[in-house]
Amino acid sequence: MPCDVVIVGASSAGLYAGELLARAGRTVHIYDEHGALAPARRTLIVTPRLLQWVQPLPPGALLHRAYVMALASPQAQAQVRLRQPDLIVERAAFVQALARRAQEAGAEVHLGCRLVGLEPHPEGALLTFHHTATGGEERVVARAVLGADGVGSRVAHLAGLPLPPTVPLLQAEVELPGGWSPTVVQCWFDVEATPYFFWGIPAASSRGVVGLIGPAGEDPRPILERFLARQGLRPLAYQSGRVALHHPCLRPWGKVGEAPVLLVGDAAGHVKVTTVGGTVTGLWGAQAAARSLLAGLPYARALRPLKRELDLHWLIRQALDGLRNPDYDALLGALNQPLERFLAQRNRDQMAWAFFRTLVLQPRLALLGARGLLRSALRSSLGEGQTQAQAWERSR
Ligand SMILES: Cc1cc2nc3c(=O)[nH]c(=O)nc-3n(C[C@H](O)[C@H](O)[C@H](O)COP(=O)(O)OP(=O)(O)OC[C@H]3O[C@@H](n4cnc5c(N)ncnc54)[C@H](O)[C@@H]3O)c2cc1C
Repeated sequence: MPCDVVIVGASSAGLYAGELLARAGRTVHIYDEHGALAPARRTLIVTPRLLQWVQPLPPGALLHRAYVMALASPQAQAQVRLRQPDLIVERAAFVQALARRAQEAGAEVHLGCRLVGLEPHPEGALLTFHHTATGGEERVVARAVLGADGVGSRVAHLAGLPLPPTVPLLQAEVELPGGWSPTVVQCWFDVEATPYFFWGIPAASSRGVVGLIGPAGEDPRPILERFLARQGLRPLAYQSGRVALHHPCLRPWGKVGEAPVLLVGDAAGHVKVTTVGGTVTGLWGAQAAARSLLAGLPYARALRPLKRELDLHWLIRQALDGLRNPDYDALLGALNQPLERFLAQRNRDQMAWAFFRTLVLQPRLALLGARGLLRSALRSSLGEGQTQAQAWERSR
């Protein structure tokens, strides 16, 4: 007897999709290769949108709240006060809470099972899992398959779907120095060191993480160590991994036999490429996948609002990739009061409809953006550096 949905990957995107589908009465089995729901420590900063979907967060998952975003470039500084604070979340406790919710809704979670096969079956798709503890095998037939197995998705690989490009992310746990308010998130722009930015996220009143996204093909560790030394910070431990990047050309769906195969979360590149935050957008993708399966809606259509948002982040990333340090100085200098007030009301998951208003409030941003886009385009036509678009081309 086939089950309705098999989800590969018991992390945030897979567990949330499992909960939604099980609540709607579908038989759902969620498999993960790890033997326990105890992912490595990871301090996440997420927008308050998370609470619209997963409420309440258990105390162990919600570490802290950040009310101010402080931005700095070599010659300029600015601050945005957030009307609704960003949330600082510990991934392991968050994932365990999502697992409880999925199980309470009726989903079955199978741990220590690595997907090794996915093939057509008369009643859907046949999935083969390898038991990591015993070496045995388990086969299951599903009418639909969700690939929530993160970066380098095995589901995508076996179903012949394209994999999103990835970047390395490294952050160090540090003691917050005196003078750093625990309610302030810091972002330092310095394109000589990193094409994205360095961040400092307070995770408690005295501790936090400082990190960066590594430039393509480079080990981010020495860059972070130099930055920490400059800031007078000592690394206590490191958190690292790769994160997927969204690209407008990605089509994260397909079929195996008659079974639809939908990718969600990092497996699908459901990540904002401005900040490389993928937790909330991964949940958003999970919602779209559940909606598609429950309402018989094409996944492309269910994904449309998320794709619009992610495409816009991609476009902004293209512009940012072309900025130099003096442009960042000008960008921060352009943050006038009306714009700061406007940004304080929005969060990073609502760019699509805030974007044009932002340009109206500060037309200089349009000029800077156009300059960045032009430089990015010129640089890629000359084959210099590696923009995000090139990372995508190379990953195919
Ligand atoms: C150091 C670091 C810091 C980050 N900080 C932030 C942040 O501050 N804010 C933010 O929004 N995002 C952040 N991210 C990104 C965020 O963690 C990811 O976008 C998010 O975890 C993606 O969730 P997911 O459910 O799609 O996949 P994952 O969390 O990657 O989970 C995939 C799951 O699939 C399982 N799996 C893989 N292959 C198989 C297989 N063959 N068979 C069975 N199971 C399999 C894995 O065991 C895993 O449990 C950070 C990432 C890193 C690395």
